[in-house]
Amino acid sequence: MKHIFNPSVSERVAKLEQLRDYLQKIEAEIVAALHADLKKSEFEAVATEIGYVQAVLSETIKKLPKWSKKRRVSPALINFPSRDYLLAEPYGKVLIIAPWNYPFQLSMVPLISAIAAGNSVVLKPSEYAPKTALLVSKIVRENFNVKQAVAVLGDAEIAAVLLAKRWDYIFFTGSVQTGKLVAQAAAKHLTPITLELGGKNPCIVDRSADIELAARRIVWGKFLNNGQTCIAPDFLLVDDSIADSLVANLKVEIKRMFGDSIQDNPDYGRIVNRRQFLRLKKYLETGVDVIHGGRTDEFDLYIEPTLVTVSDENSSIMTDELFGPILPIVTYRSQQELDKWLTRLEKPLAFYIFSNSEVFIEQNTRQYSAGGICINDTLVQFTNNKLPFGGVGESGYGAYHGAYSFETFSHRKPIVRRGSWLDISLRYPPYAGKLAALKKLLKLF
Ligand code: NAD
Repeated sequence: MKHIFNPSVSERVAKLEQLRDYLQKIEAEIVAALHADLKKSEFEAVATEIGYVQAVLSETIKKLPKWSKKRRVSPALINFPSRDYLLAEPYGKVLIIAPWNYPFQLSMVPLISAIAAGNSVVLKPSEYAPKTALLVSKIVRENFNVKQAVAVLGDAEIAAVLLAKRWDYIFFTGSVQTGKLVAQAAAKHLTPITLELGGKNPCIVDRSADIELAARRIVWGKFLNNGQTCIAPDFLLVDDSIADSLVANLKVEIKRMFGDSIQDNPDYGRIVNRRQFLRLKKYLETGVDVIHGGRTDEFDLYIEPTLVTVSDENSSIMTDELFGPILPIVTYRSQQELDKWLTRLEKPLAFYIFSNSEVFIEQNTRQYSAGGICINDTLVQFTNNKLPFGGVGESGYGAYHGAYSFETFSHRKPIVRRGSWLDISLRYPPYAGKLAALKKLLKLF
């Protein structure tokens, strides 16, 4: 057994305070990097990345002493006298691999949580958000010594080299396809992992929903960050009787939020790179009817907020995770038809239901599994740090946020400390004459 690297809680808190102050000073640099990589507006950069990271830091600094306290549990009577407790210990060396869509937040939050739990970290940001990756690497270099944390820049090949090494924990955020490779690599060393993956998130709009409000919240959740959000509603399943009204309201909300000249609107971001742009553009070329938007500009990596109806349920637009500003709309006439659509899907990361019918909400939340469910809104389940955030099935396993992040990066070591002043001889051989007493004792449990 090797000694574990286990900095004291006060050392960890001091490090996080240093990081908090440092990040406050370089906020403008972070905004600029996110703009360079994704044309993120300053508002979105602060709301979904920088502000969120600062909130995580504040909460972690405040609550770490409580989270890391040893937790007393009542001892088993059979062990009397004994004091039992759980001691949180860091796993050790943690590898964090991050994606490009929220490249600052999805690198920093796992890093902060792993450090808070006392681990040392190697962090690999995504090569597809290069300006943010470079900045993240500078942040790590200027705030941690190499024993605590390092950032490694590189692509899939570098990630594969890192994965081939032995780690004590791996925290991966990215696609299902890469997640499976991570799980395979981790299995070689029995390394525990968290897989924060993607999926195809359905969004139902029931006939009892508040249509205007549903439209506003769907447009916001779908087109934030240009649809490049792991929990964005991927496609809509709409009760046929309200479909026309919903579509009309979606168009109104798109115009209200982004205006007439969307390409010139600084609030509307861009597709991350040409590869993703071409992948998305292909969906508009066959098997869909564009009912709103559809304009694209390859040079500018721009895709207009686009609504489409789909005729072929097996077309790739209905099977792939879209991860872009294209919203397919499908209608249903009965719960059976709705079930037909939903049962074709793997368990998604997020599932949205717009409805004011208790029966409808109850039925669909009970019978379908998803990483998380949000009723009558989109994305906001992410913001409650009392709720764990993570997938299930194909959308991943493990979860984080708030206290769950600390648990994710800690091993809770159970410790039984027996008292020495009493030693009941019942368990020791010879057993002759002790069986009846044992049976009596076991009845007490
Ligand atoms: P990706 O899987 O292509 O890449 C993610 C990271 O893995 C990158 O750092 C990349 O360099 C690395 N990587 C690529 N190939 C690798 C390999 N063979 N071995 C090891 N690492 C490798 O994902 P992406 O395109 O960056 O991100 C988009 C996906 O991430 C979407 O599916 C989205 O839903 C998902 N996502 C999930 C969450 C979540 O919290 N669950 C958050 C954001 C994004």
